[in-house]
Amino acid sequence: MNLQKHVSLNLNLRGLGESPTLAMSERCRVLREEGKEVFNMSIGQSPFPVPNSVVKALKMYAREKTYLPVRGLPELRTAVAEHHKQKDGVNLTADNILIGPGSKVLMYLLQLSFYGEIVVPTPCWVSYVPQAQLIGRQVQLINTTYEEKWHLTAENLEELCQSEHDTYRPRIVILNYPGNPDGGSYTADELKNIADVAREYEVILLSDEIYGQLHHKGEHVSVAKYYPEGTIISSGMSKWCACGGWRLGTFAFPDKLDWLMNAMSDAASQTYTSVSSPIQWAGVTAFKGSVEIERYLWHARRIFSQLSGQCAEMLRDAGARVHDPEGAFYLFPDFSPIADNLEKRGINGSVELCDAILCENHVATIPGAAFQRPENELTLRMSYCNFDGNKALAASETIPLHENLPDDFLEKYCGKTLESTKRICDYVNTGA
Ligand code: PMP
Ligand code: GLU
Repeated sequence: MNLQKHVSLNLNLRGLGESPTLAMSERCRVLREEGKEVFNMSIGQSPFPVPNSVVKALKMYAREKTYLPVRGLPELRTAVAEHHKQKDGVNLTADNILIGPGSKVLMYLLQLSFYGEIVVPTPCWVSYVPQAQLIGRQVQLINTTYEEKWHLTAENLEELCQSEHDTYRPRIVILNYPGNPDGGSYTADELKNIADVAREYEVILLSDEIYGQLHHKGEHVSVAKYYPEGTIISSGMSKWCACGGWRLGTFAFPDKLDWLMNAMSDAASQTYTSVSSPIQWAGVTAFKGSVEIERYLWHARRIFSQLSGQCAEMLRDAGARVHDPEGAFYLFPDFSPIADNLEKRGINGSVELCDAILCENHVATIPGAAFQRPENELTLRMSYCNFDGNKALAASETIPLHENLPDDFLEKYCGKTLESTKRICDYVNTGA
């Protein structure tokens, strides 16, 4: 097992840097303003419109203007609890739910409020580790491998708990599935095994399930089903409801961890107060769900599933190794099988690779290093969501859901994403 400790105990924010996903998106905006063509596969946001009923609710509640309770609007907390009950089979009530301005902020408050060690398998989403750095906290990274499908295994978790002769050190392990940056998910058996180890060593799991509803087959399983007493489910509206900019995230706590929820809620009351009232009211409609929203989700899943399959095939044809995503809208190719060709051209790591692809073939991606991978690894994250989601959704809605999308659909409605992928393939194959 490849363990790596990130110790950042001096509180020095110089050098923290802007979040790489947001910084790269800004770089694309500036390049476009300069009149340059850029294919932006850097930011991860749903291309689809917000479901109509949710937009309608937001309009209806635009006049809501009072501060809401710190923990969230009671109606919304009830709707979120019911949502997890129905989708994930876990028993929760409104009292278990905390609403925040994005799950990102809730994760930061969690790191602030918890006193133990944070364990993060890599590749991992770009902000978990910098958030720890912001508060001078120690992080234990576990580097997973391509062969392990970038998954944390129960064996690795157990080895970590035993390795430091500090077996019962308070720990939070962050799991994220479907995963950013790789789109992979865990099987029920893998989750059960992880849950058993977590229970044995009293590890808390922060299960980041923000992409749960975007499992391409609609088969998302939460680890909370197997370890309800020790799992916090992190979710929100940003991805499945396509409104990242609205800023609404949710944490669902087991009863046993109410001390942690209380500490976070106190911190919230001294910082952001509460989430915007109209957004919370609109959230009630989103989390209550409807036939319209279920249909919308199936259309989104079908498009993402077929598009990711085609992009993955193109990457493999170009010599990369990549797992077919099972959810979300990211691919995480590893170009190490064609490292010789890249090294000949002076590319020895992901940052160089990412820069070269942007400068020469105008596609913006995020280097594997931003996901805590070794600097010399030739991995990249590609967000395959840079197509017109309004048009793609409208076209998909004319095709019955039990059918596959026709052959020309992706070329017609997701052509920009296919073109971006082709440009990456062309770059890595130049001179081969
Ligand atoms: N977790 C993961 C894996 C993410 O990709 C993101 C990015 N949106 C977040 C958490 C944070 O999402 P939000 O703050 O919009 O809820
Ligand atoms: N989560 C998105 C991404 O990984 C962007 C938003 C963010 O990082 O806050 O691209």
